[in-house]
Amino acid sequence: MHIVITGANRGIGQALDTTLRAKGHQVTGTSRKGGEFEHLDVTDPASQAALAKQLDTSPIDLLVCNAGVYLDKHENLAEGYAPEIWAQSFAVNVTGVFMTVQSLLPNLQLSAAPKIAIISSTMASQERAPGGAYIYRASKAAALNLGRNLATDLHHIGIAVGIYHPGWVRTDMGGSQADISVDEAATGLAARFDALSLDTTGCFENWDGRPHAF
Ligand code: NDP
Repeated sequence: MHIVITGANRGIGQALDTTLRAKGHQVTGTSRKGGEFEHLDVTDPASQAALAKQLDTSPIDLLVCNAGVYLDKHENLAEGYAPEIWAQSFAVNVTGVFMTVQSLLPNLQLSAAPKIAIISSTMASQERAPGGAYIYRASKAAALNLGRNLATDLHHIGIAVGIYHPGWVRTDMGGSQADISVDEAATGLAARFDALSLDTTGCFENWDGRPHAF
């Protein structure tokens, strides 16, 4: 399979890149800083267009929208959550996901069994609402909603879409006290991507395969 991953330079994206390569897949890892990865800043339409141009007519079997930011961890309701943080967070976590899918759709359509995986979060859930982190929660809820509606629209052209909570993972974002390692998260997610099909499209699952509450 040819797999494209956004935000592959560190954290869960990097572990997915390593894990999926080890399984024998061809992986195009992307990073907004370029370097050893293909350049892709998911917020920048010109960068999206350049990657699509570079991939040309190469089929993509799996697109993993992993890049994300969590900028309001330490904000407080009385005086925090500035509009700039809303704009930056939605640019990456929501618009960035949409633009990546839109720009690589022609390549996905060249695959025999194309799939899209959106890395959302448990913090996307409407049912589980412990409060706080309003911006991150709203952005991940929007990413979940995007995935659900793309699943409907892309079903007729054979593209399956899954939305995932990767676990609470020890990365720069998750912190050192988190539950699981990046390798555990990546191994679990890789199994979820294998299991994704048009029968399960629109699913919202945990990294370990348990369905997640919407
Ligand atoms: P990290 O903060 O460790 O890594 C985030 C990645 O996203 C980096 O590669 C970063 O690149 C990239 N990124 C950020 N903005 C952009 C952009 N504009 N264009 C391209 N890449 C960008 O996060 P994790 O690995 O922990 O998280 C990965 C995904 O999993 C995220 O979507 C996150 O919301 C989600 N998640 C993580 C959880 C956890 O416990 N860790 C829990 C639930 C969900 P750069 O190095 O350039 O900043």
